[in-house]
Amino acid sequence: MPKHQLGLEYALKQDREDILAKHKQQFHIPKDKNGNELIYMTGNSLGLQPKSTKTYINQELEDWANLGVEGHFEAKNPWLPYHEFLTQNMVKVVGAKPIEVIVMNTLTTNLHLMMVSFYKPTKTRYKILIESDAFPSDKYAVESQLRHHRFDDKEGIVLWKPRTDEELLNYDDLETILAKQGDEIALIMIGGVNYYTGQFLDLKRITNLGHAAGCHVGFDCAHGAGNVALNLHDSGADFAVWCTYKYLNAGPGSLGGCFVHERHASNKDLNRFTGWWSHNKKTRFTMRDEFDQMLGAEGWQLSNPPILSMAAIKASLDLIGDVGFEKLVEKSKKLTSYFEFLLKQLGDNTIRIITPSNPDERGCQLSIQVKNADKTLHDKLTKSGVISDWREPDVIRCAPVPLYNSFEDVFKLVDKLKFILNE
Ligand SMILES: *Cc1c(COP(=O)(O)O)cnc(C)c1O
Repeated sequence: MPKHQLGLEYALKQDREDILAKHKQQFHIPKDKNGNELIYMTGNSLGLQPKSTKTYINQELEDWANLGVEGHFEAKNPWLPYHEFLTQNMVKVVGAKPIEVIVMNTLTTNLHLMMVSFYKPTKTRYKILIESDAFPSDKYAVESQLRHHRFDDKEGIVLWKPRTDEELLNYDDLETILAKQGDEIALIMIGGVNYYTGQFLDLKRITNLGHAAGCHVGFDCAHGAGNVALNLHDSGADFAVWCTYKYLNAGPGSLGGCFVHERHASNKDLNRFTGWWSHNKKTRFTMRDEFDQMLGAEGWQLSNPPILSMAAIKASLDLIGDVGFEKLVEKSKKLTSYFEFLLKQLGDNTIRIITPSNPDERGCQLSIQVKNADKTLHDKLTKSGVISDWREPDVIRCAPVPLYNSFEDVFKLVDKLKFILNE
């Protein structure tokens, strides 16, 4: 990592030398009441809107207006195969093969569909292992799967916890759990990048440990997709799910993504829920045939998808595809290491970074723990024009996103923080 320097001049110089700096202009940056741009650090919660999104959605509105149902075939981007226009860029972002990825439904729905296939409890092996600080939706989803299969939703959960007085997960502890009760665990379902601490886990290592213990392994990559190089195929995981409204900038509540490893592509023995979109697309519209399972991740689709939402995903993925995802990751590491450098230079012991300092074990987000859970610090930061978020019990999350955040943004953020801390 580069040696950083203090001072605004250094930040401005980094921006001048940054080949990706120009992309900030391709986004709408939220402004305050006086028309000044806010410092937006919550791309981990809702990514900003590319200016091109409107054009992409308008194209579909126009084709719908002019073509009606014929748009399925005649639209500029025909609606029938529309999801296929997303595949090429999406597989690069998550590190998968085209047959392994599908954009459909929303994250938690996809998680349930994946558990229909990959959570196959028996009397003795029925538990689900999750991280102790899992995102609430994931926790509720796995608990309801336990109840659905008539198991106790407390006793059936195994928690991988950080050690006392630590925040991060330790792989030795996972090994210990699996050595002790691996044969009771049917499924390991972990957040690939923890939403709270920003820890990016080693997906391959977890998968290997889980498979060796006879468990299925899946990941929730909501905070990973578009943020870090997930390499889902190489991880060997059975499945992964993610959303597209965080680091993939596709708009509030937009569709989710789903990965099913190639080795399951033609496995017709897996339990599945199905609909007409799971049927072989070559004969889907004959509508008279016996069900013929579609190969690959596409075979988990149920319904014909919402094209307007997909248009927003296409706008964003086309942009990311043009920039090149590897370049984004490269800038991200530099930008976040600069952010970390500035925070450490503050030398203030009321705040502490809990995100790993190893760039390979985190994405762009830094989670700043505030002593005595003093929420007023976050409130003051917001008043000063910084959009970050507060997560109970005591963390401010800030995510400088390489596509639209600059070194200057990071400098100003820490400068404001410094001012507030010195007050
Ligand atoms: C954002 C997020 C979700 C949200 O789920 P939706 O089904 O898209 O509402 C779930 N899990 C994790 C880990 C998340 O970060």
